[in-house]
Amino acid sequence: MATELSEDIKFAADKMLGKLARWLRIIGQDVTYGSELSGYGLTRAARREGRLILTRDRAIARKNPPPYLLIASDRFREQLKQVIEACRLDPLKNAFTRCVECNTLFEPIAKKAVEGKVPPYVFDTQEKFSFCRKCRRIYWPATHQQKMLEELKGLEFS
Ligand SMILES: [Zn+2]
Repeated sequence: MATELSEDIKFAADKMLGKLARWLRIIGQDVTYGSELSGYGLTRAARREGRLILTRDRAIARKNPPPYLLIASDRFREQLKQVIEACRLDPLKNAFTRCVECNTLFEPIAKKAVEGKVPPYVFDTQEKFSFCRKCRRIYWPATHQQKMLEELKGLEFS
């Protein structure tokens, strides 16, 4: 694969890499992922949208694929580390800017706009809220984000 990769790299994850896809979204990366994304469905989607394929399927080389990264490990921490290092991503720079469920970038939403739409204790204790236009979900920093950050820091990038 190319050594010079731009900031706006996009990924198409093989359907067997669901956990990796979610973690890449957590760190803000644009990742398509779905049950149709394997074999030729994956290579077609990647070519159409100019995405780097992430797969563990060694047979992909026979499918005349667009650029791909063969994922070595079956453990998601190793997988995430491989992608971050191979593509020189900064895992903390854009963390929590994208919806893990649907890949849409969050939009900021004013606190007064979420009153009555989030639990009262959340409204009382949080100041910053984000919104996924596609899922219609409201997000806010919470303890699970802290755990995710600790997980990312625990990967110990070289
Ligand atoms: Zn969403």
